[in-house]
Order: sequence, then C-alpha cells, then structure tokens
Amino acid sequence: MKRRLIMTPGPTEIRDNVKNTFLAPVTNPDLDLDFVEYYSEVCNNLKTIFNTENDVLILNGEGILGLEASCASLIEPGDKVLCINNGIFGKGFGDFAKLYGADVTYYSADLKRSIDVKELSDFLDSNPNFKIATLVHCETPSGITNPIDMLCPLLKSKGIITVVDSVSAFAGEPLLTDKWQIDIVIAGSQKCLSASPGLTILSISPDAWDAMRNRKNPIASFYSNLLLWENWYEKKAFPYTQPESNIHQLNRAVLNVLEECDFISRHKNTAEKIRKIFTDCGFELYANSGFSNTVTTILLPDGVSFINLFETMKNDFGVLIGGGFDFLENKIFRIGHMGENCYDEKIYLTLKSLDEAFEKLGVPKGKKLHKVYAELD
Ligand SMILES: *Cc1c(COP(=O)(O)O)cnc(C)c1O
Repeated sequence: MKRRLIMTPGPTEIRDNVKNTFLAPVTNPDLDLDFVEYYSEVCNNLKTIFNTENDVLILNGEGILGLEASCASLIEPGDKVLCINNGIFGKGFGDFAKLYGADVTYYSADLKRSIDVKELSDFLDSNPNFKIATLVHCETPSGITNPIDMLCPLLKSKGIITVVDSVSAFAGEPLLTDKWQIDIVIAGSQKCLSASPGLTILSISPDAWDAMRNRKNPIASFYSNLLLWENWYEKKAFPYTQPESNIHQLNRAVLNVLEECDFISRHKNTAEKIRKIFTDCGFELYANSGFSNTVTTILLPDGVSFINLFETMKNDFGVLIGGGFDFLENKIFRIGHMGENCYDEKIYLTLKSLDEAFEKLGVPKGKKLHKVYAELD
C-alpha cells in the first residue's frame, strides 16, 4: 500500500509504537496462563477509559461484532426493544435487534440534532415497558454526539437495559459508564484508539449479565454469545483462541491514550477549531447541534461531487477523507479527527490539501482554510 494520511472517521492513523508491537514475542494464548493475566491487564487498562468497574471484554471482530453480540445475547424473541434513532447507525441498530426476534420500536428524531432528553422522557411516559434500549453515542455519518450522560440514567430509571454504540466516541468524548449507569458500552480498535481494525471492546454491567443468564431461550449464536465469556478469568479459559498480536497492538494504543492525561480535551479543542475554520471560510456544517468531538461533517460546496474531491485529495495529496452514505451520499464530506488524526500537523496538512483541491475543482476563491487555522494558533 502507498503511504496515505488517513483522515477518515475510522480507521485512523496508527502510531509506529503500535505497529511495532507485531515484533513482540508471542505465546500460545490457550495454554500459557501468563496470557490470561496479560489479557486481564489489557482489560483493566481499558476500564480506565470506560470509567467502569464492570467487566470488560475484547472480542475478535470489528465494532459490528460488538453490536451484534449485544443484541444476540440480550434479546429474546418478542422482547420490546427501543431503538433511539437520529442517524444511520441508530436506525441500523434496529436491524440487528430484529434479527434476534425483537419487537422493535423506533424513537425517531431530527437527523440534524442530538437527541432531546425532555422529548424522550415524554415519549417514555406514554410508551412504557421496554426491556432494552439501543443508543448511539456518536453518529459518525452525520457528526452528531448524543447526550448519553442524561439519556442513559433516564432509561435506567425506567428499568430499561441500555446498550450504547460508542465505537466512534470512545476515548474522544467523555464517558462515565458507571456514573451514567450504562449496561453495555461498545468500542472499537480502529477509531480514537488508533489501532488496526479487527477488535471490539465491550463493558458489561451486572444487570446485563443477569438479563443474559435469566433468558428463557438459549442464545441463537456461538460467536456472538457473550455468556461464553462468563467467568473466563476464574476459569482461566477463553471460548476460542485469542488474536494475541492484535491484543498487543491494542494494549500499546490504550497505553498511548492513557499516557496523555487530557485526551478528551485535545479532541474537543480540535473539533471546535475545525468547525470555526470551516464556518469562517464560508462552508456549512451538516449538524445543527450535538457537534461531535471526533468527526466533522461539512456540506459539499455547490458543483463539487464527492468522488472528484475524494480522488483529488487522494491522488494529488495522498490524503483520505470521508464521504456520506445513505441519505447523505454526495451531499457532505467528513474529516475524522480521532485519536492519532487529531494532531495539528495532520489537520493542517489536510486543510492545506483541501484548499488546493477546491481551487483545482473550481470552487470560487474564499478564505483559505489552512491560513485561518494557522492564525488561530
Ligand atoms: C465505525 C463504527 C462502527 C463499526 O462499523 P464499521 O462501519 O464497520 O467500521 C459502529 N458504530 C459506529 C457509530 C461507528 O462509527
């Protein structure tokens, strides 16, 4: 592969010390009990980012496995599941729930705004009796972060088990899993943690474990069955062989995050700067509220197609940017400022390349993004 600057909202750039872990010594993770201790240590490091004392698991699959495993393990046929939907991932969560027999109700809200707590509260007053609710922390396709700090305690106060997709927010947005009483939080290796794609991480509360244990019907999956992991540490056994090299990589990436005390502020400050620069230069942001710390979604200027912008950025400057899919296709472009992407030099290079790409694509001359950026510092 050619060297690229990957400024997409995941996968992200990977630091050399993370890549280099592939040279670390390996063992047989099934037989060597030292590996059990090591895996447990990596989970403990991750707990610091989750802010939880709940169990944390690392599963061998991309973030999607975390979403599917949560649905497969919690949902029984006929269970009432509330899917909170203000974007593509929010809506898509319902499809996983239906696969496992859920009776899905969508709470569908404005796609350009974060979920309003008061409105959800009014909805719950007249629509009770949900067993599970699915939520998305950061709607990556639209760049909107939902206030899970208020939504999850509200749902929990109604006795609803909450499952939060935090794949693109984890380590970039504030997350207080225990304080906010979140039953399952799902993260991924390839977004703000900036390791390779291929691992998903879940925190699982005692209530979520109880719901799985107290099912009437067995879980209709093997690889997505979280109960197989129950008491893995006490049993000193994994359900199947663990991808040791990927876990070495993940741990190094987690340590990189933890070695920097204020990684959330770096994301917040960068996101604020990027929004200010684009609006100062006459661009329009897609979102109206709930602006994400980790991804910014900007409307394409008149007359510019995404494919032309993407190809120019890639071929002329070696920079990859994100686009829109579904209802956002060819309407927006996205910059992922997650983890390793969220540093001044990379943002500057991206903005400078965008300035030149827009000039090449005939967008009328306005203020230069990279110049406004330099002036802000
Ligand atoms: C990236 C992401 C996932 C994982 O899905 P992929 O698109 O396959 O990477 C899940 N949820 C959200 C919100 C994501 O941003």
